[in-house]
Amino acid sequence: MQLATLTARSPASHAPLTGTTKCPGCGLAVPATLGPTHAYVGASPGCWELYRRLSTAPYARAPGSRLRRLVEDAYAVQHPGVPGRRSLQSVAVHLMGLCTLLEREAQERRLVPVLGRMPARKTMDLHWLEPPARNGRLNVNHVIEAGFENGHAKAVEAWARDVWRAWAPHHATVHGWLDAPCRHGD
Ligand SMILES: [Zn+2]
Repeated sequence: MQLATLTARSPASHAPLTGTTKCPGCGLAVPATLGPTHAYVGASPGCWELYRRLSTAPYARAPGSRLRRLVEDAYAVQHPGVPGRRSLQSVAVHLMGLCTLLEREAQERRLVPVLGRMPARKTMDLHWLEPPARNGRLNVNHVIEAGFENGHAKAVEAWARDVWRAWAPHHATVHGWLDAPCRHGD
């Protein structure tokens, strides 16, 4: 699942046009805009615009690269939205992505092609996980402020680790999903 390729929708008509809005996901305060948001990723239009800028940066043009995946996973987990089938699956899949990249990278290089069919092929019980009250201290803006040269990779890593750490109460659940046995032949 790649966030950058998902469909966007128009913002709610009651969105304020002036002042700043606080992103419901990461808490980032950015000038209010009427830009598009995502169908189930819980981000403000201004924050979503920053994510789009980050995900279209030159480094990100290689789908499946570690940095691109970290950006997608960290952003999705930091913007869980509200409970629903698609949002809970998104958060679960991207939490598994963070866990794999940050804790298990050498062991599970095949995660990406497996993800699309994971709910059907693995005996895992994906369900909504209550987001942490403080969903990380770093956000997409910290990465952008670090620039796209020397400090970029380090900033992405720090952001992803920060978000993953914020979800520590659910790490055991995520480990359980990743370690669930496969049902071959389904
Ligand atoms: Zn945000």
